[in-house]
Amino acid sequence: MIRLENINKFYQVGGKPLHVLKELSLTIETGEYVSIMGSSGSGKSTLLNILGILDDYDSGNYHLGGTLIRDLSETQAAQYRNAYIGFVFQSFHLLPFKNAIENVALPLYYRGISRKERNVTAMDFLDRVGLADRAHHLPSELSGGQKQRLAIARALISEPRIILADEPTGALDTTTSDEVMQVIEAVNASGITVIVVTHEQDIADRTSRIITLRDGAMAVDG
Ligand code: ADP
Ligand code: MG
Repeated sequence: MIRLENINKFYQVGGKPLHVLKELSLTIETGEYVSIMGSSGSGKSTLLNILGILDDYDSGNYHLGGTLIRDLSETQAAQYRNAYIGFVFQSFHLLPFKNAIENVALPLYYRGISRKERNVTAMDFLDRVGLADRAHHLPSELSGGQKQRLAIARALISEPRIILADEPTGALDTTTSDEVMQVIEAVNASGITVIVVTHEQDIADRTSRIITLRDGAMAVDG
């Protein structure tokens, strides 16, 4: 499903190139449950952004579902992103003035689906993450774990094949983290490929494979 070959990525910092991903190669098969570890600044988010077609790379090849992802137009990038990928972020990225069902339904709004159908589908996804009884709550009226489950429901509503989660439990306590990881594991059990960036060993230990980056290069894979 995902194949990276000798990826290099540079940022320009004060007119100087900063080499942040170095000859990175990795393959992730459909249905895998993978974590990416590494200390702060090792390139985890950069890697996730490239996988999610939010950012470009400078050399190497990225194949997603057999397609070479490189130098895409904004429109093409959005098409592949929408077809393949759901994102979950540490800070949830929910709309504060929209309630739970509206937040989950938002991706369907952009696809021009009627309000009635949006609400029925959104309710189904809220139910899957155990939030059916919170449909009319604003994000500020939800706990951290509930917010993250809501964000997962929103990621799932577009029926992605891959979920990319950047520190999904980074803002949560241990009990709540477990609750969120259980939802993520149910997502993976349904056949969706899941890639979780984390710096917490106990979170990584729950996944089937741990990829460790060190200073932008592959340190451990397995
Ligand atoms: P991690 O997620 O592992 O903490 P990042 O991928 O965010 O690491 O960052 C990797 C390196 O790239 C760091 O040295 C960081 O400072 C740098 N970096 C990240 N984003 C940018 C950017 N937009 N511009 C310049 N440098 C960046
Ligand atoms: Mg990061």
